[in-house]
Amino acid sequence: MRKRAGVALNVVMLGPPGAGKGTQAERFARTHGLPKISTGDILREAIHADTPLGRSAKTTIYSGALVGDDVMIGIVGERLSRPDTRPGFVLDGFPRTVAQATALDDLMAGRGPLVVVDIVVPEEVLLRRLAARRICGDCGVNAPVEWISACGNCGGALVTRFDDGDGVVGERLKVYHLQTRPIVEFYAGRPTFRTIDGNQPPDVVTAALSAAIREASLVPAPVKITPGAAL
Ligand code: AMP
Repeated sequence: MRKRAGVALNVVMLGPPGAGKGTQAERFARTHGLPKISTGDILREAIHADTPLGRSAKTTIYSGALVGDDVMIGIVGERLSRPDTRPGFVLDGFPRTVAQATALDDLMAGRGPLVVVDIVVPEEVLLRRLAARRICGDCGVNAPVEWISACGNCGGALVTRFDDGDGVVGERLKVYHLQTRPIVEFYAGRPTFRTIDGNQPPDVVTAALSAAIREASLVPAPVKITPGAAL
């Protein structure tokens, strides 16, 4: 991808649970040599490792609710302070509230443009996908359809994600509409915001996403007019 010299490629993937954010973020990050930062993965790893964060977030995640803004902003702020994010990053699962989106704008000061992509998928398709989704019970990676019963990474057994079960999915979609959907309006007027049809084969979505991010990342930064300056 042609990228403006010296300008970081900072990407946020938005979309409801099951939209394909994780898969697409992973592909885009790998192709462009950028770190993928998935807040869901960070929390699941913390639960797996039984850290204080994992212990405090577990009940919230199991119920389908959101972990507190201060905790999440702290986690992402720390992650974005690491040098590997200087050339850019792909955020998956953050921001999820307007407060988080506002905090991200603050964290972005002096770091170049933020390209925001919203992956749109009809609700009945999301429900079908979430019911079918499997992850590895040992290493936690999302299982592509080619993996029938064992993980292609570590050989672990494939299981349903604990919060993809019937009881929790409805709550997660409700939380998405109430708390996360408003951030689409927060970003919609920006020149670097794009919408992608996520109800297509994954490779078609990957190509559309890549083209949209390329085009959005080339949008010139808004010119700041200083009052009184000679034109
Ligand atoms: P995900 O893997 O992105 O679907 O996230 C799984 C769960 O982790 C969510 O249902 C939330 O409980 C929690 N979580 C992940 N990211 C965030 C975030 N940015 N803010 C609050 N909670 C989050």
